[in-house]
Amino acid sequence: IREVVKKLKPYVPGKSKEEIARAYGIKPEDIIKLGSNENPWGPSPKIKEKILEEIDKIHQYPEPVNPVLMEELSRFLNVDKENIIVGGDGADEVIDTIFRTFVDDGDEVIIPIPTFTQYRVSATIHNAKIKFAKYDKEKDFKLDVESILNNITDKTKVIFLCSPNNPTGNIIENKDIEKIINETDALVVIDHAYIEYAKKEYDWTQKAPEYENVIVLRTFSKVFGLAGMRVGYGVANKKIIDYMMRVKPIFSLTRLSQVCAITALRDREFFERCVRDGIKSREMLYNGLKKFKDIKVYPSEANYVLVELKTMKSKEFCEELLKRGVIVRDCSSFDGLGDNYVRVSIGTFEEVEKFLKILEEII
Ligand code: PMP
Repeated sequence: IREVVKKLKPYVPGKSKEEIARAYGIKPEDIIKLGSNENPWGPSPKIKEKILEEIDKIHQYPEPVNPVLMEELSRFLNVDKENIIVGGDGADEVIDTIFRTFVDDGDEVIIPIPTFTQYRVSATIHNAKIKFAKYDKEKDFKLDVESILNNITDKTKVIFLCSPNNPTGNIIENKDIEKIINETDALVVIDHAYIEYAKKEYDWTQKAPEYENVIVLRTFSKVFGLAGMRVGYGVANKKIIDYMMRVKPIFSLTRLSQVCAITALRDREFFERCVRDGIKSREMLYNGLKKFKDIKVYPSEANYVLVELKTMKSKEFCEELLKRGVIVRDCSSFDGLGDNYVRVSIGTFEEVEKFLKILEEII
């Protein structure tokens, strides 16, 4: 076993709705899942029929690059097809492909924390040296730009910026991103997994191809409601995409995933409703949570809010919610956060109302 692999924590899968239902004697359909930043309204209703049509073809390999999907994505994003790489294990695959393309053993990467854990996991597997920077807790988790600039060396290959950041929900200011890009030759990854829920002015997708050293990451797992199909993508200049395409697993994007992504992009009306209602649900959550005096809730531009508990530990809090059929994310496993933070994803309006009512019994 490689030494770096020994550094990884054992894999413990999250509990399914069914498991929780059994453990707490609740009907699975009564469980409210606000734990994984998914779209509570699911995928476009047009997808089911398209999957059934494709089923007859699944004995054939998928096209490694599906021209229809590339066309639709290019139109949706308003960037050239040559500027896009699509990953078949979601944005996670694109993150791993970045390491396999650009990072040699012992190279350095900079990860401000708290943030999405997959950067650290991929960095560890690829034997990169991780330099942690920070989103500043004292300033509502605003990115501490200096903490990044101070860590840049000749060996820095990748800098991970997550905007909106998971789990804190805040965006990174454009001028801060610009400053970092201009101060380094390292690849700056701007993770936009939740950008559809943020104000348009923070979106770097169309700007990314203009730079030598920028890649934007996006996904179908969130607002498009396709987390189970595992489709993510990156947008960057043609040279970056060309090199990454040489490394990417060829057939990772399955026929069914391709059909789902194409259909989701074509159902623009459903997409727009999910953005609108998602933001509404987030505001309901934020305003509802603000009324509890033993909680601090952070403003968010994503489809979740971060909650700081003033009188309880996150473990106990999550346990009390589970007993009542509600799943939220205990954030104690995020680097750089304490044991009193939880992340609550948007739900349907009824789910949010129910959750806020249940909360009154706990806190
Ligand atoms: N980036 C961020 C910030 C995320 O939160 C997630 C999913 N939790 C991903 C990337 C990965 O998304 P995907 O499902 O496309 O792999």
